[in-house]
Amino acid sequence: MKTSLIGYPRVGSLRELKFASEKYFKGDITIDELHRTAADLRIRHWRRQQENGIDFIPSNDFSFYDGLLDTACLFNIIPERYQALGLNPLETYFAMARGYQGEQGDVKALAMKKWFNTNYHYMVPEVDDSTTIRLAGTKLLDEFLEAKQNNITTKPVLIGAFTLLKLAKYTEGKQADDFVHETAEAYANVLTRLNELGAEWIQLDEPKLVTDLTKEDLVLFTKLYSRILSAKGNVKVLAQTYFGDVRDCYQELQSLPFDGIGIDFLEGKQSLELVRKYGFSDDKVLFAGVVNGKNIWRNNYHNTLTLVQKLNGQAKQLVLSSSCSLLHVPYSLQNEAALSDGIKRYFAFAEEKLHEFAELKKILSHADPYSTELYRQNEVLFDGTRFAGNETVQARTATLTDADFKRLPAFVEREAIQNAKFKLPPLPTTTIGSFPQTADVRANRFSFKKGSITAEQYKQFNFDKIAECIALQDEIGLDVLVHGEYERNDMVEYFGESLDGFIFTENAWVQSYGTRCVKPPIVWGDISRSRPMTVEYSAYAKSLTSKPVKGMLTGPVTILNWSFPREDISLKDSAIQIALAIREEVLDLEANHIEIIQIDEAALREKLPLRQSDWQAEYLSWAIPAFRLVHSGVQAETQIHTHMCYSQFSDIIRDIDDMDADVITFEASRSDLAIIDAINACGFQTEVGPGVYDIHSPRIPSVDELKQGLFRMLDKIDGAKLWVNPDCGLKTRGVTETWASLRHLVQAAKEVRETL
Ligand code: GLN
Ligand code: ZN
Repeated sequence: MKTSLIGYPRVGSLRELKFASEKYFKGDITIDELHRTAADLRIRHWRRQQENGIDFIPSNDFSFYDGLLDTACLFNIIPERYQALGLNPLETYFAMARGYQGEQGDVKALAMKKWFNTNYHYMVPEVDDSTTIRLAGTKLLDEFLEAKQNNITTKPVLIGAFTLLKLAKYTEGKQADDFVHETAEAYANVLTRLNELGAEWIQLDEPKLVTDLTKEDLVLFTKLYSRILSAKGNVKVLAQTYFGDVRDCYQELQSLPFDGIGIDFLEGKQSLELVRKYGFSDDKVLFAGVVNGKNIWRNNYHNTLTLVQKLNGQAKQLVLSSSCSLLHVPYSLQNEAALSDGIKRYFAFAEEKLHEFAELKKILSHADPYSTELYRQNEVLFDGTRFAGNETVQARTATLTDADFKRLPAFVEREAIQNAKFKLPPLPTTTIGSFPQTADVRANRFSFKKGSITAEQYKQFNFDKIAECIALQDEIGLDVLVHGEYERNDMVEYFGESLDGFIFTENAWVQSYGTRCVKPPIVWGDISRSRPMTVEYSAYAKSLTSKPVKGMLTGPVTILNWSFPREDISLKDSAIQIALAIREEVLDLEANHIEIIQIDEAALREKLPLRQSDWQAEYLSWAIPAFRLVHSGVQAETQIHTHMCYSQFSDIIRDIDDMDADVITFEASRSDLAIIDAINACGFQTEVGPGVYDIHSPRIPSVDELKQGLFRMLDKIDGAKLWVNPDCGLKTRGVTETWASLRHLVQAAKEVRETL
């Protein structure tokens, strides 16, 4: 049985590429040095795969920033404004990725979006009037040759034509259809070049095929590939899909002359059923995604063997593959010295997944795979003895009733009670929670982690910061204050570290975008709260002012979405456990006289299933109740806020209202406020605070500009429902612009109030 990888992580085992790139951006190393680091990493990663007997090793999965941006550049999709800078190709590439400000001009970066249902982000290719799509770059060919020179045969990978055209953005009046011909020619050219270089296979990634497809989409897909595949020559073409099943185009994939089809059998719920129902063409190779590219648990060999058996009856030629690129898992367990072997044996990061492929290959070559030692060693990992479940948690979840998910009294009654209690002015002003994490804040945390200061010293520093922050908020006249979140490294990691049941890693970084990596915690066991996590800081902040201070928590759905989840229980069950733990914190805050509590669900929207038909049943039906469970126990007087990043939730607006918070703030300054129309259309009850200024730049908005923003909102929203706040993320800003901007915000709110 042969094995294939869809892609390998590229930032390096210790984020070497990130650090080299950042040095290059600062001018500390030359472009040649950056290229050397990149080449070293590529070769090292190929060798690792070769050593583990991977038969289909990907090349061109390397990227300095993002694979879709590479694809756009390869095909000359470089908007005029970047070309006009007159930079060299790599500089132009980075200008598209990060924006450019310098002697040659001033341009913003391309838009960035979430890559399907992952926490990875891609740069949105922009096809403008001046664009001619054609094969213009050589990266794909260069990396194939680079591997070849190192005696490594690779399968070059490229984002496919359909996914490229579907994810790109077009100038007014243009659409994907207008570029079918050019695009197909460009891909055909790639095939011609690969023929000349003697490549055996090419992998074209088409994850867009696992989403809901229209008839027009199928026409577009067929048109593109009828032309592209006519240029195959001796190169075999693998249509690689992942993140779901291909129920809308299974037959099209079968009937087009692809040589291989890559199907995800882990996230693709209907994948097996499709293969069974429609069969699998004898002249194609089935690349079966069985090793999870998205999670860090060991592969369950029993499940894999069972699946392979079923597939063997259907497909003549079978290759074992990862379910998606390993880009979405960390590099290696070798970097986790602090984790015991007893724990590590349950995990497989990218490198350990290579070992799994090697083992599966061995096992499958055996006449009786189930009798092999490797199989047995794996089997014991899944015998249910991994950890002792928490009986209290299990008992509590077992006794939950509908009443636990419903806050009483109803919103309208609460709103009146809270208005009478808080007596806030119209258009109350607040912020989303964090304040600048300046160098001293980070140094304090770092010193504490290192052990060079005591817990008391560490805390005292945070108390001083809080006092300073409260005094300033009071002074500039904000209505609802926050403590500033100085104690938090990250809104998920902080809670993960304080809750029981999570595991933390030292170096398990996963690329989020460009040079930015995240280190998601691992849900290991049943989640519970053994001690208050935020009460002390919040209560201290409250003691310093007569104004209300918001307690600040992260919600269960966001904590779960930004962690590696368990595979032995459902996401729903994990979410409920986390919700119960956060609920205890909510009740503790309330008992300590924190009258307003914000429960952030920054990541609620991003894990919506890729197909709309799955939204309710598979996600919203538990995610929204999990949120309600967190706050359903508070008094009517206690005001519950929530916050969501991005404002693109028009399509789930009723579900958001159903979270039954009293106030929702959201990131909105960079959007067209279309969300507010959706809010009006559905009779949204929750009070709203759309961000009035963008905090992603150091620019200080003027009072007039903020007033205009507020008037625009008031055109659409009842003044009695509107809150005034900036977008989220003040922690990433500098001190000066933060306070200057907030002063303007308070002033603008005051002036607009007068006109109501
Ligand atoms: N309360 C968090 C903050 O202000 C929210 C972060 C977020 O929206 N991602 O930083
Ligand atoms: Zn946010």
